[in-house]
Amino acid sequence: MTQVTKKYGRGPSAVVALDDVSTGIPAGGFTAVMGPSGSGKSTFLHCAAGLDRPTSGTVQLGGQDLGGQDLGELDEKQLTRFRRTRIGFVFQAFNLLPSLTVEQNVTLPLRLAGTQPDRDALHGVMAAVGLTGLLGRRPSQLSGGQQQRVAIARALVTRPEVIFADEPTGALDPDTADEILALLRQAVTDLHQTVVMVTHDPVAAQHTDQVLFLAGGRVVSRVDSPSAAEVKSVMTELRRTR
Ligand code: ADP
Repeated sequence: MTQVTKKYGRGPSAVVALDDVSTGIPAGGFTAVMGPSGSGKSTFLHCAAGLDRPTSGTVQLGGQDLGGQDLGELDEKQLTRFRRTRIGFVFQAFNLLPSLTVEQNVTLPLRLAGTQPDRDALHGVMAAVGLTGLLGRRPSQLSGGQQQRVAIARALVTRPEVIFADEPTGALDPDTADEILALLRQAVTDLHQTVVMVTHDPVAAQHTDQVLFLAGGRVVSRVDSPSAAEVKSVMTELRRTR
């Protein structure tokens, strides 16, 4: 993303949620986005994923298919298709469809894109997330951790350019959270999947390759191979200087 500014509202009451942000996210890596409440994390994620358009600046999502196409140049229809096929999302609240089985939830993005699920590929993804044997269940018959595994399988199934995860462990107990983070790590390491995760949890950030810290709508720091202690101390400092 290059010189991205996102303002909400107009005139003197406008809020600058992102302030001239230029940054890159390494392909094939696991990146955490952190920062105090109101620092612009959600806005960053939404702009990076094409869910929201910046007020100014450009967002590019690399990869050969797109040829580095600027998201700002896509019309709404193209943007919807792009999101559906090239981006995966994982949310805190799982966002599964309750009336669909596990299998139907996972294959939904493929069906929306008008492609037939490939049985072998589907079974590969289900095995990778540890859900083999649960294909016929409904979300209400699964634990929170299992539901998040379904959401991750659904995100992986289109082999997207990037998976964006918004507090994916926010609704889970610490042990289950750890399993989900290990799974995201595995997607990066084994499947070379790029993952970008917003989190407020230093322990979660420890699973990533790098942390981008936001404060006041700007990227103010970047830590590689983060430890929880390191992340905690940067967060404490950012809260103090806010
Ligand atoms: P974070 O995810 O780090 O808490 P956000 O990206 O949600 O931060 O918000 C950044 C700033 O933009 C905050 O000041 C917030 O109040 C403001 N903001 C976010 N969304 C809206 C909106 N839809 N309308 C007006 N202001 C918003």
